[in-house]
Amino acid sequence: MSIEQTSIAQVPVSELKGVGKALTEKLAKIHIHSLQDVLFHLPARYEDRTRVCPIGHIRLGDHVLIQAEVVSCEVVFGRRRALRIVVKDGSGQIALRFFRFGANLRQQLTPGTNLQAWGEARRGSSSLEMYHPEMKIVSEGDAMPPLADRLTAIYPTTDGLPQARMRSLADQALERLGTLEVDQLLPVSMTSARGLPSLSAALQLIHKPTPDVSTQDLTEGSHPAIQRLVIEELIAHRLSMLKLRTEYRREGALALPRPEKLEASFLGQLSFQLTNAQARVVGEISADLNRTEAMLRLVQGDVGSGKTVVAVISALHAVAKGSQAVVMAPTEILAEQHYLSFKEWLAPLGVEVVWLAGKIGVKQRRETLVQIADGSAKLIVGTHAVFQPDVVYHQLALAVIDEQHRFGVDQRLALRQRGIESGCAPHQLIMTATPIPRTLAMTAYADLDCSVIDELPPGRTPIQTLLVSNQRREEVVERVNAACAGGQQAYWVCTLIDESEAVEAEAAEETCQLLQAALPSLSIALVHGRMKASEKAQVMADFKAKKHHLLVATTVIEVGVDVPNASVMIIENPERLGLSQLHQLRGRVGRGTRESFCILMYSTPLSQNGKARLGVMRESTDGFVIAEKDLELRGAGELLGTRQTGDASFKIANLERDSYHLDDVAELTAQFLQQYPERAQSLIDRWLAGAEVFANA
Ligand code: ADP
Ligand code: MG
Repeated sequence: MSIEQTSIAQVPVSELKGVGKALTEKLAKIHIHSLQDVLFHLPARYEDRTRVCPIGHIRLGDHVLIQAEVVSCEVVFGRRRALRIVVKDGSGQIALRFFRFGANLRQQLTPGTNLQAWGEARRGSSSLEMYHPEMKIVSEGDAMPPLADRLTAIYPTTDGLPQARMRSLADQALERLGTLEVDQLLPVSMTSARGLPSLSAALQLIHKPTPDVSTQDLTEGSHPAIQRLVIEELIAHRLSMLKLRTEYRREGALALPRPEKLEASFLGQLSFQLTNAQARVVGEISADLNRTEAMLRLVQGDVGSGKTVVAVISALHAVAKGSQAVVMAPTEILAEQHYLSFKEWLAPLGVEVVWLAGKIGVKQRRETLVQIADGSAKLIVGTHAVFQPDVVYHQLALAVIDEQHRFGVDQRLALRQRGIESGCAPHQLIMTATPIPRTLAMTAYADLDCSVIDELPPGRTPIQTLLVSNQRREEVVERVNAACAGGQQAYWVCTLIDESEAVEAEAAEETCQLLQAALPSLSIALVHGRMKASEKAQVMADFKAKKHHLLVATTVIEVGVDVPNASVMIIENPERLGLSQLHQLRGRVGRGTRESFCILMYSTPLSQNGKARLGVMRESTDGFVIAEKDLELRGAGELLGTRQTGDASFKIANLERDSYHLDDVAELTAQFLQQYPERAQSLIDRWLAGAEVFANA
């Protein structure tokens, strides 16, 4: 492509025939502004109007073109008045039904009239029927209308923007492709080496496939023309992630040297030594923190691997420097627990820790905000509340985000903004027990460095997992009784998926009452999502202090809660939960030296797949293995209980389907950046122009 040539990205859509002001506005709504946007607005599916289907061959649900002769045409009075036309060809007959029709339609359709009709075959009163087919009548002597020579593309569209209009835009844009060139941003060598067509050829084929092309290959994405675009889109996404990363790092951060003395005093008062893995990860973080580029690091470590102390040592870097660190947890319970442990560990070292959650009192909140703003609070612990706009930091140097699976690009950007307002971009440390699937690691998390705590502290006895049907509930209750009588503590987890928090809380309350009736000698407490944060925290603190034997809970205790003396967990209806979630729950036990049990009390009958999945839980306690199996049995989208492409909305790529490209894409992106850095922005704009993520970048 020569530089003088106009790029189709610069030709506004209003240059096309029939595109006035109103249409331009409608198109803008679906992010179509230029000819390039038209070409990259791809068909969702295709219709085959290139051949006529004999009526006798039509099956229910087929979309077909027929060519036939009118047998009869009459107004019928069923549930709704309608015009019913029976037509036939040599192979059979079918009825066409119109609920809206004028007198002249009726007059035209005299017996013997020939027509072509396109529509979907539905079940009719006595035969197959088409409702409101697209229809062309052929009067005597005229030739039949010609068949389409290409498959007909059906586009995603919006109100007031009919298919025919979309198609005409695409046609015009494709025509212009003859004279203008679609910027071949990726060098042809990259794609031709993979047996993929040129960009113009791919677009031509996708918009107007010849009848021999398998539309299934196109709609399912296996066709080389689609793959050509998929690779380009994945590269564009990766480029945008790398760009963010570069920008983020360019932001000046405060260099935080390793706080040797403070760290030594902290470690000195722990009852254990760091594992090698913890020490290594602390080293990696410390090296990052000592730079004036902002750190962006993800720490992955299985449940119980000891991420909390790593967070504390990281935070001490900021404290020793006289600046601030914030630790954010996803739930109030977890945040409060962190707050309590941090206070216990750090008060003796003279470090001021404060707590900020959604539900603390107005007065306390006001006081805390003052401490944060004047810098006297060094370590701030809380939920999302810590990033509310009214929280003004004095000098925020580090943000630790714990157990947050959905901390996407936009949150990272918002966080950066909060720090910048306080004078510098904070270093960011994100910690998770849930292994990040490769697809995410390559895309939404592509901008993060990664550390892994791949070792559990010594002396842990592996958790034994038992599968028991709920018909043996009494035995299970007895087992809990025996364990608690012997000085152990237990969790009883009630699960209700897709129900409201209120319904879930009610179910847990009921279970709690039933258990209390069955086990009168035990002290049983209840915790659920509808309780006030302070109530929840009180219950947890009491449980940790061994004031209760048994804690009945909803899945609010899923992440991070740490009560080492609790060694038995019952999970009701585990088949309703994802394996990674079960793994998280189960990780609440097995934290002390005592042998621990997790009883998965499923309801019968259990499906084949349910059996297989719970079997995985019994066989493995390795979070990575479990996540992998979960992926196999459920598909990536559900792994984190939510669609996890989250901030990466793709036009055409599908991370699961196309994940086999990801390594290739990483390599191609690096090559591309090296050879054509000046083209990167155009490629990003082509694929991501309308994307939310970048609106505030
Ligand atoms: P997670 O990685 O799941 O957040 P935690 O940080 O809550 O794990 O640690 C789990 C338990 O292990 C805590 O009771 C913690 O005090 C303890 N722990 C952490 N590191 C070690 C270690 N190196 N040796 C012994 N126990 C440890
Ligand atoms: Mg934790």
